Amino acid sequence: MSQISTVECPTCGAPVEWSPESKFRPFCSDRCKLIDLGAWASEEHKIPVAPDAEDEMFSGDFDPRH
Ligand SMILES: [Zn+2]
Repeated sequence: MSQISTVECPTCGAPVEWSPESKFRPFCSDRCKLIDLGAWASEEHKIPVAPDAEDEMFSGDFDPRH
């Protein structure tokens, strides 16, 4: 009576078994996982980041405004 639920691979939409054997879930494969991460990263680059936000991200505890 084990019920295996499936999810859709976010990259290609293929059904992926939600089980420990599906190492790359919710992706169907390592490739789809990398593609999705790559798309996510490139999307981040496309989004115009406000100079202030970027400054805060990189300055860390070094903040000249304080
Ligand atoms: Zn896939």
